[in-house]
Amino acid sequence: MSKLDWLKLEIDGLKDQGLYNHIRTIGSAQGARLIVDGRDVLNFCSNNYLGLANHPKIVEAAQVAMIKYGVGPAAVRSIAGTTDLHIELEKRLAKFKGAEDVITFQSGFTANIGTISALVGKEDVIFSDQLNHASIIDGCRLSGARIVPYEHNDPTALDAAIRENDGSYRRALIVTDGVFSMDGDIAPLPTLYEVAKKYDILFMVDDAHGEGVLGKGGRGIVDHFGLHGKVDIEIGTLSKAFGAVGGLVAGDKVIVEWLRQRGRPFLFSSAVTAPDAAACIAAVDLLESSTELVDKLWDNARYFKAEMKKLGFDTGGSETPITPVMLGEAPLAQQFSRELFENGVFAMSIGFPTVAKGKARIRVMISAAHDRDDLGQGLDVFAKVGRKLGVIK
Ligand SMILES: *Cc1c(COP(=O)(O)O)cnc(C)c1O
Repeated sequence: MSKLDWLKLEIDGLKDQGLYNHIRTIGSAQGARLIVDGRDVLNFCSNNYLGLANHPKIVEAAQVAMIKYGVGPAAVRSIAGTTDLHIELEKRLAKFKGAEDVITFQSGFTANIGTISALVGKEDVIFSDQLNHASIIDGCRLSGARIVPYEHNDPTALDAAIRENDGSYRRALIVTDGVFSMDGDIAPLPTLYEVAKKYDILFMVDDAHGEGVLGKGGRGIVDHFGLHGKVDIEIGTLSKAFGAVGGLVAGDKVIVEWLRQRGRPFLFSSAVTAPDAAACIAAVDLLESSTELVDKLWDNARYFKAEMKKLGFDTGGSETPITPVMLGEAPLAQQFSRELFENGVFAMSIGFPTVAKGKARIRVMISAAHDRDDLGQGLDVFAKVGRKLGVIK
């Protein structure tokens, strides 16, 4: 046995179970259609909710910034200074979201791990929704705090967990996804907030899939529920609806100030580039100027989900444009995805460990970039493949 044999066995195991990730290669800009592995296909799997990833105004803003600032940040912000663009972006995001202050990170992932590990430590406890995103889980582990998972979206279970652990910790943090990325359901934030308030516990929501999607004109989940000033920390991403890349933390100004001193990915890793920051500022401009794209996204999502239900597909309990098409076993989901692709539709299967075993699915991501013809084509292909594989009649 060589010391690497176990890896080959593990990888073969993934292949046998239909859980091996086959990553396709994209040869075009993001949009309703893509060139994938050399073929022109309908794009049903990106998080480009508003079509901003290749929006002319955003591309132009990035180009202008690239001419002025070049491409690389050259060092971390706290050591070598930060561009006025990064500062402007943070100010604009705070105003857009109605938060006291905002700090940006390289990604939503680093925003989560940096924030959680800066706020709680070994003597503390974190109450975490059991279906939280991997970056929250990793942030919790990194912090060294004791992790107490509570039943998904269940404020009563949260309350009970807090009571059970009463007196056993120094500080506590409650953390939940805003929109759960695999099922598209929304956390019951007002009721969770009541629990956080009752025990005076820090309350954090990761709104990666709500940023640019939920709330007035895409202002996010805190705006959606009118909880400004009540949710202590709102994490967002600039890599999904905003069409660029980056993460953000919006909240109380003392928390943001602390993260500028103690957020480790902020202190030890370079920032997004100036063109990225400029692209995000242009995205805020667009969102502030009109709700048209957000409205179109929701129109498209409602239409697509209703038609999929009519066809007989199980689209789970999604309340957002995320549309899971539940298939059960991972090999079926992989085969479904391959057949979709052969028929010109790019939608990937998702299986364990991203979702529980037996809950494999195709996750369709609807976008404002789609028009009704795109959605019609997608529905026709889903119907054809669904009948062929015996998923619908
Ligand atoms: C996508 C996602 C992230 C990570 O965001 P990136 O900007 O891609 O790193 C974090 N949390 C949740 C809930 C997500 O869906």
